[in-house]
Amino acid sequence: MMISSRDTKKLQAILDRIADTMSTASERGRVANYIPELANVSNDHFGLAVVPVDGETLISGDADILFSIQSISKVFTLTLALEKYGSTIWDRVGREPSGDPFNSIVQLELEHGVPRNPFINAGAIVVADLLVEGRSPQQAIAEILSFCHGLAADAEIGIDQDVARSEERTGFRNVALASFMRAEDNIRSPVGHPLDVYFHHCAIAMSCRQLATAGRYLAASGDVHGDATKRISMACVRRINAVMMTCGHYDASGEFAFRVGLPGKSGIGGGILGIVPGVASIAAWSPGLNVKGSSVLASRAFEELAKATGWSVFAAPRRS
Ligand code: GLU
Repeated sequence: MMISSRDTKKLQAILDRIADTMSTASERGRVANYIPELANVSNDHFGLAVVPVDGETLISGDADILFSIQSISKVFTLTLALEKYGSTIWDRVGREPSGDPFNSIVQLELEHGVPRNPFINAGAIVVADLLVEGRSPQQAIAEILSFCHGLAADAEIGIDQDVARSEERTGFRNVALASFMRAEDNIRSPVGHPLDVYFHHCAIAMSCRQLATAGRYLAASGDVHGDATKRISMACVRRINAVMMTCGHYDASGEFAFRVGLPGKSGIGGGILGIVPGVASIAAWSPGLNVKGSSVLASRAFEELAKATGWSVFAAPRRS
Protein backbone atom coordinates (compact mmCIF):
# COMPACT_ATOMS: atom_id res chain seq x y z
CA MET A 1 0.00 0.00 0.00
CA MET A 2 1.19 3.53 -0.73
CA ILE A 3 0.42 6.44 1.57
CA SER A 4 -0.64 9.56 -0.31
CA SER A 5 1.28 12.72 0.53
CA ARG A 6 -2.16 14.30 0.98
CA ASP A 7 -3.00 11.91 3.77
CA THR A 8 -1.63 14.44 6.23
CA LYS A 9 -2.78 12.72 9.40
CA LYS A 10 -1.31 9.33 8.60
CA LEU A 11 1.89 10.86 7.31
CA GLN A 12 2.34 13.08 10.38
CA ALA A 13 1.88 10.05 12.62
CA ILE A 14 4.59 8.20 10.66
CA LEU A 15 7.01 11.14 10.94
CA ASP A 16 6.37 11.48 14.69
CA ARG A 17 6.91 7.79 15.26
CA ILE A 18 10.22 7.93 13.35
CA ALA A 19 11.38 11.05 15.20
CA ASP A 20 10.46 9.39 18.50
CA THR A 21 12.46 6.27 17.69
CA MET A 22 15.45 8.34 16.61
CA SER A 23 15.43 10.52 19.71
CA THR A 24 16.18 7.50 21.90
CA ALA A 25 18.42 5.58 19.47
CA SER A 26 21.71 4.61 21.08
CA GLU A 27 23.68 3.86 17.88
CA ARG A 28 24.08 7.41 16.53
CA GLY A 29 27.42 7.35 14.66
CA ARG A 30 30.17 9.96 15.04
CA VAL A 31 30.04 13.67 14.24
CA ALA A 32 32.49 14.67 11.47
CA ASN A 33 35.59 16.29 12.90
CA TYR A 34 37.94 16.69 9.94
CA ILE A 35 36.34 20.10 9.42
CA PRO A 36 36.95 21.31 13.00
CA GLU A 37 33.92 23.61 13.18
CA LEU A 38 31.52 20.73 12.44
CA ALA A 39 32.76 18.82 15.50
CA ASN A 40 31.02 21.37 17.77
CA VAL A 41 27.53 20.19 16.81
CA SER A 42 25.63 18.06 19.35
CA ASN A 43 24.88 14.51 18.24
CA ASP A 44 21.52 14.52 20.04
CA HIS A 45 19.65 16.16 17.19
CA PHE A 46 17.24 14.54 14.80
CA GLY A 47 14.95 16.37 12.37
CA LEU A 48 12.66 15.36 9.54
CA ALA A 49 10.64 17.36 7.00
CA VAL A 50 8.41 16.32 4.11
CA VAL A 51 7.37 18.87 1.48
CA PRO A 52 4.72 17.35 -0.80
CA VAL A 53 4.45 18.51 -4.40
CA ASP A 54 1.01 19.71 -3.47
CA GLY A 55 -0.05 19.74 0.11
CA GLU A 56 1.21 21.11 3.37
CA THR A 57 4.73 20.73 4.74
CA LEU A 58 5.04 18.23 7.58
CA ILE A 59 7.85 18.21 10.11
CA SER A 60 8.95 16.36 13.21
CA GLY A 61 11.82 16.65 15.69
CA ASP A 62 14.51 19.33 15.17
CA ALA A 63 13.30 20.27 11.69
CA ASP A 64 13.84 24.00 12.21
CA ILE A 65 17.43 23.89 13.50
CA LEU A 66 20.09 25.02 11.01
CA PHE A 67 22.86 22.62 10.02
CA SER A 68 25.68 22.63 7.48
CA ILE A 69 24.30 21.12 4.27
CA GLN A 70 27.84 20.37 2.99
CA SER A 71 27.73 18.06 -0.03
CA ILE A 72 23.97 18.38 -0.45
CA SER A 73 24.77 21.84 -1.86
CA LYS A 74 26.32 20.01 -4.84
CA VAL A 75 22.77 19.18 -6.01
CA PHE A 76 22.03 22.90 -6.30
CA THR A 77 25.34 23.89 -7.94
CA LEU A 78 24.94 21.06 -10.46
CA THR A 79 21.41 22.26 -11.25
CA LEU A 80 22.67 25.81 -11.76
CA ALA A 81 25.56 24.67 -13.98
CA LEU A 82 23.32 22.38 -16.05
CA GLU A 83 20.78 25.13 -16.58
CA LYS A 84 23.51 27.60 -17.58
CA TYR A 85 25.79 25.44 -19.69
CA GLY A 86 23.65 22.45 -20.69
CA SER A 87 25.18 19.11 -21.54
CA THR A 88 28.63 20.61 -22.30
CA ILE A 89 29.42 20.16 -18.61
CA TRP A 90 29.71 16.40 -19.21
CA ASP A 91 32.89 17.05 -21.21
CA ARG A 92 34.56 17.94 -17.92
CA VAL A 93 32.90 15.66 -15.38
CA GLY A 94 31.54 12.12 -15.70
CA ARG A 95 28.32 10.60 -14.39
CA GLU A 96 29.34 7.17 -13.17
CA PRO A 97 29.43 6.08 -9.55
CA SER A 98 32.98 6.25 -8.25
CA GLY A 99 32.97 3.34 -5.82
CA ASP A 100 35.51 5.42 -3.92
CA PRO A 101 35.29 7.77 -0.92
CA PHE A 102 34.14 11.34 -1.55
CA ASN A 103 37.62 12.86 -1.31
CA SER A 104 39.58 10.14 -3.10
CA ILE A 105 42.61 11.24 -5.09
CA VAL A 106 43.73 7.95 -6.63
CA GLN A 107 41.00 7.60 -9.28
CA LEU A 108 41.52 11.15 -10.50
CA GLU A 109 45.11 10.48 -11.49
CA LEU A 110 44.21 7.27 -13.32
CA GLU A 111 41.44 9.10 -15.20
CA HIS A 112 43.49 12.15 -16.22
CA GLY A 113 41.83 14.75 -14.04
CA VAL A 114 38.24 14.08 -15.17
CA PRO A 115 36.22 13.28 -12.02
CA ARG A 116 33.82 10.34 -12.14
CA ASN A 117 30.76 12.38 -11.18
CA PRO A 118 29.71 15.86 -9.96
CA PHE A 119 29.02 14.72 -6.37
CA ILE A 120 32.48 13.54 -5.38
CA ASN A 121 34.57 16.48 -4.21
CA ALA A 122 36.69 16.65 -7.37
CA GLY A 123 33.56 16.75 -9.55
CA ALA A 124 31.93 19.46 -7.45
CA ILE A 125 35.13 21.54 -7.67
CA VAL A 126 34.94 21.32 -11.49
CA VAL A 127 31.30 22.47 -11.31
CA ALA A 128 32.43 25.36 -9.07
CA ASP A 129 35.09 26.19 -11.67
CA LEU A 130 32.39 26.39 -14.36
CA LEU A 131 30.33 28.69 -12.16
CA VAL A 132 33.26 31.01 -11.35
CA GLU A 133 34.53 31.33 -14.92
CA GLY A 134 34.75 34.98 -15.98
CA ARG A 135 33.73 36.34 -12.58
CA SER A 136 34.99 36.68 -9.04
CA PRO A 137 34.44 33.98 -6.40
CA GLN A 138 32.26 36.48 -4.49
CA GLN A 139 30.00 36.91 -7.51
CA ALA A 140 29.71 33.15 -8.05
CA ILE A 141 28.97 32.55 -4.35
CA ALA A 142 26.31 35.28 -4.40
CA GLU A 143 24.72 33.69 -7.49
CA ILE A 144 24.58 30.24 -5.85
CA LEU A 145 23.09 31.67 -2.67
CA SER A 146 20.47 33.63 -4.53
CA PHE A 147 19.62 30.51 -6.56
CA CYS A 148 19.07 28.64 -3.26
CA HIS A 149 16.91 31.51 -1.97
CA GLY A 150 14.65 31.08 -4.99
CA LEU A 151 14.47 27.28 -4.67
CA ALA A 152 13.67 27.43 -0.97
CA ALA A 153 11.47 30.55 -1.28
CA ASP A 154 13.48 31.88 1.63
CA ALA A 155 15.94 34.77 1.40
CA GLU A 156 17.12 34.21 4.99
CA ILE A 157 19.26 31.23 4.02
CA GLY A 158 22.94 32.05 4.47
CA ILE A 159 26.47 30.73 4.68
CA ASP A 160 28.01 29.77 8.02
CA GLN A 161 31.25 31.74 7.67
CA ASP A 162 32.91 29.89 10.57
CA VAL A 163 32.38 26.56 8.78
CA ALA A 164 33.65 28.01 5.48
CA ARG A 165 36.80 29.38 7.16
CA SER A 166 37.30 26.14 9.04
CA GLU A 167 37.29 24.16 5.79
CA GLU A 168 39.47 26.75 4.07
CA ARG A 169 42.08 26.25 6.80
CA THR A 170 41.99 22.46 6.73
CA GLY A 171 40.74 21.34 3.29
CA PHE A 172 44.14 20.20 2.05
CA ARG A 173 42.80 17.21 0.14
CA ASN A 174 40.46 19.46 -1.79
CA VAL A 175 43.37 21.80 -2.56
CA ALA A 176 45.29 18.76 -3.83
CA LEU A 177 42.35 17.66 -6.03
CA ALA A 178 41.96 21.14 -7.52
CA SER A 179 45.70 21.54 -8.14
CA PHE A 180 45.90 18.16 -9.84
CA MET A 181 42.95 18.98 -12.09
CA ARG A 182 44.52 22.33 -12.92
CA ALA A 183 47.66 20.47 -14.01
CA GLU A 184 45.42 18.34 -16.26
CA ASP A 185 43.71 21.51 -17.58
CA ASN A 186 40.31 20.58 -16.13
CA ILE A 187 40.37 23.60 -13.80
CA ARG A 188 40.53 26.80 -15.83
CA SER A 189 40.57 29.54 -13.16
CA PRO A 190 43.33 29.98 -10.56
CA VAL A 191 42.77 27.03 -8.17
CA GLY A 192 41.90 29.34 -5.27
CA HIS A 193 38.77 30.55 -7.08
CA PRO A 194 36.78 27.33 -7.49
CA LEU A 195 37.95 26.25 -4.03
CA ASP A 196 36.67 29.48 -2.50
CA VAL A 197 33.30 28.90 -4.19
CA TYR A 198 33.26 25.22 -3.16
CA PHE A 199 34.10 25.83 0.52
CA HIS A 200 31.41 28.50 0.74
CA HIS A 201 28.61 26.57 -0.93
CA CYS A 202 29.37 23.54 1.27
CA ALA A 203 28.98 25.87 4.29
CA ILE A 204 25.41 26.92 3.41
CA ALA A 205 23.25 26.36 6.49
CA MET A 206 19.64 25.20 6.22
CA SER A 207 17.05 23.51 8.39
CA CYS A 208 15.30 20.31 7.29
CA ARG A 209 12.24 22.40 6.45
CA GLN A 210 14.28 24.75 4.23
CA LEU A 211 16.23 21.92 2.60
CA ALA A 212 13.15 19.86 1.75
CA THR A 213 11.50 23.02 0.36
CA ALA A 214 14.61 23.79 -1.72
CA GLY A 215 14.59 20.24 -3.15
CA ARG A 216 10.89 20.35 -4.05
CA TYR A 217 11.61 21.21 -7.72
CA LEU A 218 13.16 17.76 -8.12
CA ALA A 219 9.89 16.13 -7.07
CA ALA A 220 7.72 18.67 -8.92
CA SER A 221 9.06 18.32 -12.48
CA GLY A 222 11.08 21.53 -12.14
CA ASP A 223 8.31 23.75 -10.77
CA VAL A 224 9.74 26.33 -8.36
CA HIS A 225 6.79 27.38 -6.22
CA GLY A 226 4.74 28.34 -9.26
CA ASP A 227 7.24 31.00 -10.45
CA ALA A 228 7.61 30.55 -14.23
CA THR A 229 10.80 32.66 -14.31
CA LYS A 230 12.52 30.18 -11.99
CA ARG A 231 11.30 26.92 -13.53
CA ILE A 232 14.00 24.25 -13.94
CA SER A 233 13.89 22.22 -17.15
CA MET A 234 12.49 18.70 -16.97
CA ALA A 235 15.63 17.39 -18.70
CA CYS A 236 17.75 18.81 -15.87
CA VAL A 237 15.46 17.33 -13.19
CA ARG A 238 15.69 13.87 -14.74
CA ARG A 239 19.49 14.08 -14.90
CA ILE A 240 19.90 15.30 -11.35
CA ASN A 241 17.59 12.65 -9.89
CA ALA A 242 19.48 9.97 -11.84
CA VAL A 243 22.86 11.15 -10.57
CA MET A 244 21.50 11.39 -7.02
CA MET A 245 20.34 7.79 -7.26
CA THR A 246 23.62 6.44 -8.63
CA CYS A 247 26.18 8.73 -6.94
CA GLY A 248 24.43 10.57 -4.08
CA HIS A 249 26.00 8.55 -1.28
CA TYR A 250 29.51 8.07 -2.70
CA ASP A 251 30.63 4.47 -2.28
CA ALA A 252 27.43 3.67 -0.37
CA SER A 253 25.05 4.76 -3.15
CA GLY A 254 24.08 1.18 -3.98
CA GLU A 255 23.19 0.55 -0.35
CA PHE A 256 20.90 3.63 -0.18
CA ALA A 257 19.19 2.61 -3.44
CA PHE A 258 18.75 -0.91 -2.09
CA ARG A 259 17.45 0.08 1.33
CA VAL A 260 15.46 3.21 0.45
CA GLY A 261 14.85 3.18 -3.31
CA LEU A 262 14.84 6.94 -3.81
CA PRO A 263 17.28 9.47 -5.31
CA GLY A 264 19.16 10.94 -2.35
CA LYS A 265 22.13 13.11 -1.49
CA SER A 266 24.02 13.02 1.78
CA GLY A 267 26.34 15.56 3.37
CA ILE A 268 28.87 15.20 6.15
CA GLY A 269 26.90 17.74 8.19
CA GLY A 270 24.50 14.81 8.74
CA GLY A 271 21.73 15.84 6.33
CA ILE A 272 20.13 13.78 3.59
CA LEU A 273 17.85 15.12 0.86
CA GLY A 274 15.61 12.50 -0.77
CA ILE A 275 13.18 12.82 -3.66
CA VAL A 276 9.97 10.94 -4.42
CA PRO A 277 9.30 12.07 -8.01
CA GLY A 278 5.80 13.44 -8.39
CA VAL A 279 5.12 13.08 -4.67
CA ALA A 280 7.43 14.85 -2.22
CA SER A 281 10.85 16.17 -1.25
CA ILE A 282 12.21 14.92 2.08
CA ALA A 283 15.03 16.12 4.34
CA ALA A 284 16.35 14.30 7.39
CA TRP A 285 19.19 15.37 9.67
CA SER A 286 21.21 13.94 12.50
CA PRO A 287 24.92 14.81 12.82
CA GLY A 288 26.41 11.38 13.66
CA LEU A 289 27.89 9.65 10.60
CA ASN A 290 28.68 6.08 9.58
CA VAL A 291 32.08 5.14 8.15
CA LYS A 292 31.00 6.12 4.63
CA GLY A 293 30.19 9.67 5.73
CA SER A 294 26.37 9.47 5.78
CA SER A 295 24.20 10.18 8.79
CA VAL A 296 23.33 6.99 10.66
CA LEU A 297 19.92 8.16 11.87
CA ALA A 298 18.93 10.14 8.77
CA SER A 299 19.65 7.02 6.65
CA ARG A 300 17.61 4.92 9.06
CA ALA A 301 14.79 7.45 8.98
CA PHE A 302 14.65 7.31 5.18
CA GLU A 303 14.53 3.54 5.29
CA GLU A 304 11.67 3.55 7.80
CA LEU A 305 9.79 6.30 5.96
CA ALA A 306 10.06 4.45 2.63
CA LYS A 307 8.85 1.26 4.27
CA ALA A 308 5.91 2.92 6.02
CA THR A 309 4.76 4.95 3.00
CA GLY A 310 5.60 2.57 0.18
CA TRP A 311 7.47 5.42 -1.56
CA SER A 312 10.04 4.06 -4.02
CA VAL A 313 11.04 4.66 -7.63
CA PHE A 314 11.37 0.92 -8.12
CA ALA A 315 7.86 -0.30 -7.38
CA ALA A 316 4.46 0.96 -8.45
CA PRO A 317 1.78 1.06 -5.74
CA ARG A 318 -0.34 -2.07 -5.64
CA ARG A 319 -3.85 -1.56 -7.00
CA SER A 320 -6.47 -2.72 -4.51
N1 GLU B 1 32.93 20.05 2.32
C1 GLU B 1 33.10 18.63 2.48
C2 GLU B 1 34.44 18.21 1.95
O1 GLU B 1 34.86 18.70 0.95
C3 GLU B 1 31.97 17.93 1.80
C4 GLU B 1 31.95 16.45 2.01
C5 GLU B 1 30.56 15.86 2.18
O2 GLU B 1 29.63 16.51 2.66
O3 GLU B 1 30.39 14.69 1.86
O4 GLU B 1 35.13 17.40 2.51
